[in-house]
Amino acid sequence: MGPLGIFGGTFDPIHFGHLRAAFELTELLRLDSVLFIPAADPPHRGKPLADAATRLAMVRAALEDEDAFEVDDREIRRPGPSYTVLTLEELRREQGSRPLVLLLGMDAFLGLPTWHRWRELLELAHIAVAHRPGAELPSTGDLGRLLEAGRARGREDIAAAPAGRIFDHPGTQLDISSTDLREALRSGRDPRYLMPEPVRRMINATGIYARPGETEG
Ligand code: ATP
Repeated sequence: MGPLGIFGGTFDPIHFGHLRAAFELTELLRLDSVLFIPAADPPHRGKPLADAATRLAMVRAALEDEDAFEVDDREIRRPGPSYTVLTLEELRREQGSRPLVLLLGMDAFLGLPTWHRWRELLELAHIAVAHRPGAELPSTGDLGRLLEAGRARGREDIAAAPAGRIFDHPGTQLDISSTDLREALRSGRDPRYLMPEPVRRMINATGIYARPGETEG
């Protein structure tokens, strides 16, 4: 079996920046599929605006048209903080020696040393980093050293081992973030062309991100 991609996030809400990065990495690394795993209780940040069930429903709606993308609700079902290392341990047990590839945006990669048991992540999976506007690939420190030691040149390096390499992809860097989208929605602006239409329709129908007391129809 080919490598399996794992894309965790808050997805509050999911947008084309997430989807394009996952799609380009799927093509480049010949991933069989990508599991989108919404976090229940993200350990690194404040409480999401949309609840877990709503974020899960938005991700499901966003992935409707892409057979290679699947939703996985294990972090929402699992009690306690959504530590990625626990998710990767579970997936490693399920997938045997299949290459696993944790997909991260550059900002998330730069924050990696603050993650729970972060050094174990590369023992459990490869990491593929999508460049993102405003965040540079590190050349010093722990991450700089890791890159120097384990940078993958291409899909062959990823397919050749279950875990341990870091691949980075400059790709199409869409300057879209959930933070900007929440702010736009709060101010009554339309997120059209920044996210899949089914997600936009859910947001409009429920008014999840509207200013309190201002629900759109
Ligand atoms: P927020 O603005 O609320 O922090 P976000 O847009 O960064 O949200 P998350 O759900 O926190 O989205 O991110 C999940 C993963 O997707 C992270 O690894 C993040 O780096 C990556 N990601 C988010 N937006 C992009 C983008 N535009 N391009 C590439 N990767 C992205």
